[in-house]
Amino acid sequence: METKELADILQRERKLSPDGYKRLVTARDAQLLDHINALARETAQANYGNAVFVRGLVEVSNYCRNNCYYCGIRRGNCNVERYRLSKEEILESCRLGDKLGFRTFVLQGGEDAAMNEDVVAGIVEAIRAEFPDSAITLSLGEYSRGAYQKFFDAGANRYLLRHETANREHYGKLHPASMSFDHRMESLRALKDIGYQTGTGIMVGSPRQTADNIVEDILFMEGFQPEMIGIGPYLPQHDTPFAGEQAGSLEDTLMLISIFRLMFPKALIPSTTSLATVAPEGRERGILAGANVVMPNLSPPENRAKYALYDNKKAFGAEAAEGLRGLEEQMERIGYRVSYSRGDFGNEKWKMEN
Ligand code: SAH
Repeated sequence: METKELADILQRERKLSPDGYKRLVTARDAQLLDHINALARETAQANYGNAVFVRGLVEVSNYCRNNCYYCGIRRGNCNVERYRLSKEEILESCRLGDKLGFRTFVLQGGEDAAMNEDVVAGIVEAIRAEFPDSAITLSLGEYSRGAYQKFFDAGANRYLLRHETANREHYGKLHPASMSFDHRMESLRALKDIGYQTGTGIMVGSPRQTADNIVEDILFMEGFQPEMIGIGPYLPQHDTPFAGEQAGSLEDTLMLISIFRLMFPKALIPSTTSLATVAPEGRERGILAGANVVMPNLSPPENRAKYALYDNKKAFGAEAAEGLRGLEEQMERIGYRVSYSRGDFGNEKWKMEN
């Protein structure tokens, strides 16, 4: 069977055999990529029209207790200037976002011991009180199930926690032994169980990742049924043990975005900052491959450079909240329109609002 036919089957049946997935992720064929991107666009449009949802990203802290080999804000990097936003600064960022029209705030950060469960719950509560109609998304790494429950009760709705890799051995090559594959997976199950709209995902082309690993990621997602899927190319950061490793590719990322779109027609899939960083038109290409979310940066500008997960991270222009007009134009040029509605998974309310 031709790989193009495999893409057609995936669109129809939302599922392939492991070997079918492997053929798609290893094909590296420009015509196939065009074809599957078009199918994924069609599927996204059938569910979301030409809407691209925006979420306001607030990078709350770059302190981190972990030492992930790929990440620029790992504990062992003494060359990052550390910062932590106060509750008031976080609220200010949300106010700015609210004025710009955002109805989802995403708080992301390292695993900062000072951001203990009560501090985070207090921040969520304050945002919830001031913005009762907005969605609150957290992306703060691993906490106990009890803490996740507390955040949820305080008003958080969504949680992004990429599984990073579904292969235990590969997990051990990306993280020091002090970090636990099982705990990451348990955390994801707890989040879903509590009732969060839950996001998983991987870095495409992360060091030591094999095609079989990616197939395992796809099969994991098939079982987990995430509401959100965050994927972007791995990009090296010069002060990490993986400084000399190769970046993930634009094309491999676009292929995976399309595969996930065809598997999960209603999922919320961002066209990520790392995708915008790896290629000049990465942001647009992601949308044209079936993504339907962008996350402009609402963090105080003076802190953005410090949240340096990888080198050359885009932080200005259409990636930043100030460039919103530019982002709208960028989306219009490719036939899409920015939607400011909450865009909850499976909720069609946005159709009326737009
Ligand atoms: N501490 C939180 C947030 C981490 S940052 C957590 O653990 O979930 C969000 C994502 O950025 C990570 O999940 C990882 O997949 C991605 N990331 C980190 N370093 C990266 C790099 N060098 N290149 C590309 N993506 C990276």
